Amino acid sequence: MTKWNLIIDIEKCEDCNNCFLACKDEHVDNEWPGYTESQAPHGHRWINIRRKERGQFPLIDAAYRPTTCMHCDDAPCIAAAEAQAIFKRDDGIVLIDPGKAKGQKKLVKSCPYGVIWWNEKKNVPQKCTLCAHLLDAGWKQPRCVQVCPTGALKIVKAEDNEMRKLVKNQNLEVLFPELETRPRVYYKNLYRFERCFIAGSAVVRRGDVIDCAQGATAILIKKDRIVAEMDTDNFGDFKFDNLEPDSGNYRLEIAYKNKEKKTITIELTKSRSLEDIVLE
Ligand code: SF4
Ligand code: SF4
Repeated sequence: MTKWNLIIDIEKCEDCNNCFLACKDEHVDNEWPGYTESQAPHGHRWINIRRKERGQFPLIDAAYRPTTCMHCDDAPCIAAAEAQAIFKRDDGIVLIDPGKAKGQKKLVKSCPYGVIWWNEKKNVPQKCTLCAHLLDAGWKQPRCVQVCPTGALKIVKAEDNEMRKLVKNQNLEVLFPELETRPRVYYKNLYRFERCFIAGSAVVRRGDVIDCAQGATAILIKKDRIVAEMDTDNFGDFKFDNLEPDSGNYRLEIAYKNKEKKTITIELTKSRSLEDIVLE
């Protein structure tokens, strides 16, 4: 049978928070019997945009990771709930039964992704329902997906084997796979959040003037093996991305026309923006 999945493209998220506001609009002051009680007006972020800044001035980038319930197939929250207060539907959606979950505050800590919130007034744990009340009424997408202006959020209803093919073909990843929770929320371009880069600018000295070294060759080497190679852009910039943090020593070689080749050794712990590399 087909099941719901959410695909989130980190490259496309611009932190506009439309999804967050649509979630509030749908759930604050609205009861959806059989699905959820109304969302607490303050403090809850059923879709939470996490932010990450990488690098150092002047080569910095920022990425945004919308984070919501992963609707896990092996959900620790389900295992922790008493009286089957959290359950998985046949279509993949994980829901909290607001009646059975009353008073079970411990469930907030049962989610390793930190996406269950406590509603003090209603005395109940709450989280994203994937707008199941709308999907059951024939909607094709939840409110957050509907309002996303950049297409960063996409909902897919597919058989599990079709989904596996999509994951492979589109290089999708899940958050914290080591938890083995088998999420139904997948990420594209997760490297923008979880991995790091080495970037810099190559410049040439022409008399008293420093100019961009457009078209210089930058080669990144690790243990005598070429990891990646690229030409610098119009500004002399290069950026090697998707590198593992704390992955040890790299050698960077920059060559440009008849200038002397520069070699730099870098110990990579987190993203590194190098100072201008002057080619004499
Ligand atoms: S992300 Fe957390 S709340 Fe959602 S199904 Fe997985 S364990 Fe449960
Ligand atoms: S609406 Fe789309 S672009 Fe805006 S914060 Fe949400 S996911 Fe990101």
